[in-house]
Amino acid sequence: MTELKTYRTKENGFLIILIRINQTKNLVFLLDPWKAGYRDFESHKGSISSLKREIGMPSIKFYPISKKEAATFLRRGIEIADAVGVEIGEDAKSWFEKLGVYKIKPKGSLYKCFNCEEGELSQDDVEEILEIARKEVEEGIVGTDQEEQYFYICENCRQDMHESHTNGIVN
Ligand SMILES: [Zn+2]
Repeated sequence: MTELKTYRTKENGFLIILIRINQTKNLVFLLDPWKAGYRDFESHKGSISSLKREIGMPSIKFYPISKKEAATFLRRGIEIADAVGVEIGEDAKSWFEKLGVYKIKPKGSLYKCFNCEEGELSQDDVEEILEIARKEVEEGIVGTDQEEQYFYICENCRQDMHESHTNGIVN
């Protein structure tokens, strides 16, 4: 599968990892790296523009990423889903297998910084998110307007924001 191309979205509230197997076959993974981890999977036949129409987002942008990055996002989605009690269907699991997603070892905190996407969150922050996520998964309200919104950032981002804020005042 060396020919496959991998993409991501950069929207608020969800992350789509798109894997283009060939000109007409797409795998669409809907992730929620801030709460439930994994949300949904479907395979789609056709062009990217027909895919965008089908998911009801004709103007959404897909940004190319490396296969490793795509697999890492998927791996994290699986870890979070397992931790909060989200079930992953057999069809998605078999693609994870084929794509080598399970070979990637999860590193660091379960959830990552909501700002830079890479920085680690503290164990306390992760526990707080988990508590909300597990409750909302059980109630079935993840992704609805009843779900709780929150924003957790890593230590580096916190310092950057503090500095730019302080600079703003000094200047
Ligand atoms: Zn950060």
